[in-house]
Amino acid sequence: MPNEQPDITLVTVPCLSDNYAFLVHNDATGQTALIDAPEAQPIKDALHARGWTLTDILITHHHGDHIDAVAALRDGARVIGAAVDAHRLPPLDLEVAAGDVIDICGLPTHVLDVSGHTVGHIAYHMPNAKLAFTADSLMALGCGRLFEGTPAKMWVSMKKLRALPADTMICSGHEYTENNARFALSLDPANAALISRSEGIKAARAAGRPTVPSTLDEEMRTNPFLRADDPTLKAVLRMADASDADVFAEIRARKDKF
Ligand code: ZN
Ligand code: FE
Repeated sequence: MPNEQPDITLVTVPCLSDNYAFLVHNDATGQTALIDAPEAQPIKDALHARGWTLTDILITHHHGDHIDAVAALRDGARVIGAAVDAHRLPPLDLEVAAGDVIDICGLPTHVLDVSGHTVGHIAYHMPNAKLAFTADSLMALGCGRLFEGTPAKMWVSMKKLRALPADTMICSGHEYTENNARFALSLDPANAALISRSEGIKAARAAGRPTVPSTLDEEMRTNPFLRADDPTLKAVLRMADASDADVFAEIRARKDKF
């Protein structure tokens, strides 16, 4: 059966001060993929503890806190990144573009263009494992800052990610969630799902637990950056008649000043 649930393990690896890298391991084939390479040592430790060897390294975008450890970790692994960004990524063994489907750990893996934080930022979606690696595009209760793209471009990227199945795990690149929750509550103080999620986030952080990954379903109900077309949020912002992209731009501008 091609759609059989694969034997996949996901490991979240905290790196640097607030980055996350991810390991995906197929227990049946023994393959292991790394998504983003912020820092070598914690990733090497996570691999060593499980007896895993990297087969693939998937890069989401060119920022140093996502690629700096590629050279130290590649050692025979296949390094994959966006063709459009190849000039500013470590040397790639496989260049990919939006719409490509590649085989990672025996799983069909879809490449999505989620530009906005940077132009050329890609996400990787593994539908069979219900995983999406979104790095600094869609984040837990937030989205990445717009260093290169326009708000309109990021809003298109948000809608692409929002269209994935609701039970997809959103594996994003940073632990910014507690601050994101304060911002989200400032816009949307009566949102019951957001209030209860915020309590859970506070408790998780107080206990030193990551708040990433999250589910797309909870993001759709609580993340203001996925809700620029929500009439309730538009009304709060006094932008009832504004375009969705303009509302998204306003939310992002407010977050930048928060
Ligand atoms: Zn970044
Ligand atoms: Fe980053």
